[in-house]
Amino acid sequence: MEGKAVHMSMNGSHDAYPDMVRIYHADSGNLTLETRVIKTLAEWESVLTPIQFSVARLKCSEPPFSGAYHDLHNRGIYRCACCGTDLFSSETKFDSGTGWPSFSEPVHRNNVTFREDLTHGMVRTEVLCTRCDAHLGHVFDDGPLPAGTRYCMNSASLIFIPGAVLGNTREQRKSKQDRTQ
Ligand SMILES: [Zn+2]
Repeated sequence: MEGKAVHMSMNGSHDAYPDMVRIYHADSGNLTLETRVIKTLAEWESVLTPIQFSVARLKCSEPPFSGAYHDLHNRGIYRCACCGTDLFSSETKFDSGTGWPSFSEPVHRNNVTFREDLTHGMVRTEVLCTRCDAHLGHVFDDGPLPAGTRYCMNSASLIFIPGAVLGNTREQRKSKQDRTQ
């Protein structure tokens, strides 16, 4: 199932501090200014597992139905495997049938960055971690309403943290976003 690519350019970049990004924290519900995490490929390779490194840093896709999270339905937060940034909540996870963990939206739009991906003869929108530039997967426009987006992610780029999803209701996110615009 391949949806059309979604084109978005928003990210958490902070104009006055290019090395800083405003990141949302699911536990507190707050946005704070954080330093970007920048490492060489060799440095990433030394701290990640082989599958984490090939997916998150070399942009390979894990085979469908092979990852740890495509069929996980527990309550919790999915963080970036490279830098620990909160990325997705179990609240927005849905079973897409693709074999990759799928979400209708991120915990906050600041925490992910979008880039046009023209590889493999397709026009897709790549999704990256705003703080460390990890490759997470792609976003398509055939997701469930009301968001309508399908974030097709790789388990290898994520770390699941089980537990409560405090500060992360749709209402709280909306009010945070309204206040920071
Ligand atoms: Zn990251």
